[in-house]
Amino acid sequence: MPGSAVQVRPQLPNSAPGASRGRGLYFVVFPGHVSGMASGHMHQTDVVIVGAGPVGLFTVFECGMVRLNCHVVDVLDDVGGQCTALYPEKPIYDIPGFPRVEAAELVVRLKAQAAAFKPVYHLGEQVQALEAIGGGFWRLTTSKDTVLQARAVIIAAGVGAFGPNRPPLAGIETFESKSVFYYVTQRENFRGKRVVIAGGGDTAVDWALSLAEIAARVSVIHRRDRFRAAPESEAQLKALAKAGKIDLVVPYQLASLDGANGRLTAVNVATLDGQEKKIAADVLLPFFGLSMSLGPIADWSLALERNQIVIDPSTAATSKPGIFAVGDVVHYPGKLKLILTGFAEAAIAARSAYALIHPETPLHFEYSTTSGVPNA
Ligand code: FAD
Repeated sequence: MPGSAVQVRPQLPNSAPGASRGRGLYFVVFPGHVSGMASGHMHQTDVVIVGAGPVGLFTVFECGMVRLNCHVVDVLDDVGGQCTALYPEKPIYDIPGFPRVEAAELVVRLKAQAAAFKPVYHLGEQVQALEAIGGGFWRLTTSKDTVLQARAVIIAAGVGAFGPNRPPLAGIETFESKSVFYYVTQRENFRGKRVVIAGGGDTAVDWALSLAEIAARVSVIHRRDRFRAAPESEAQLKALAKAGKIDLVVPYQLASLDGANGRLTAVNVATLDGQEKKIAADVLLPFFGLSMSLGPIADWSLALERNQIVIDPSTAATSKPGIFAVGDVVHYPGKLKLILTGFAEAAIAARSAYALIHPETPLHFEYSTTSGVPNA
């Protein structure tokens, strides 16, 4: 059996409700104890959560409420998933109890809420392999050779590995993160700059409207005159262009970049019939959507539907016992890809994981108003 080289049979001590246990986690680190492991550490815990997006973070909290300890792995260097990587400064309006909350602030609050349960984060590591090691345990291995053993795994991998669709421009990688950005994480970075935005969707149009307020100049390149954005946003864009506050460069496409040492000086654009233009620029924001892929998760032999993990919504169980999934990564009839839906799935998955790990001690349902936050 794969993984049978692991000699340490995990114990899951003291995590049942009412059992005595010290504060915090009982994970054990066995550096180099796993055969074939080049580096990294082995940890054991109740639950490994794959993905530290908003839903993964709330899953830590829900697991903590039923006294399950968690390790959380995310390939990104920071927690928050799409909220942190794609739209930290955008307000969200449909989180219950928050009439308006910026995505970054929601993430800060979710992390604080989960902190009571002392989760261990492994950031900048991609979970690559998942294998059964016998006795109902799972072993996960990350891109940094960290090995995690747990009875339950909760996959909160969102849209999987996501990255921008890069325009095919020679040398663009030398400008990336210096003058070419695929996400706006801090609007202020563009104050006083000559910004070229390429794309015709909501992201391109919304950022053109927003940056027009602070940039020295905003030019929007699109291959046709019609945009795939909300009609009122498109109308605002065209009104600003008419008033001379934005340059609409249509129907043009990106052709090449001028500059050196990562500093852009101009963006060259061309029409399909070869007319060319040079636009002086400090910054290029290409917004051509995201490419998304489940990455290694697609190889874990879980039942999938349209690249999403099929779960039973009443338990969050996948097709493999002990593997649960929550958030944007899941599929079931009627699934809504919303943060609040993922939060509810997190509560269900935590209780299912508890039932799996502690079949001998059925969970007594309690409201948080009654239980408080255990160990907080
Ligand atoms: P994600 O946020 O996608 O996080 C998943 C994490 O898993 C990522 O950090 C990823 O790096 C990690 N991961 C994936 N595979 C692996 C692996 N193999 N190993 C390690 N880590 C891995 N929703 C709302 O409810 N309201 C809104 O107003 C709203 N506005 C939005 C605006 C924009 C511009 C966008 C893009 C989305 C918006 N959403 C909104 C959707 C919302 O962001 C998602 O529903 C939410 O982020 C899903 O959370 P998640 O934790 O399931 O997944």
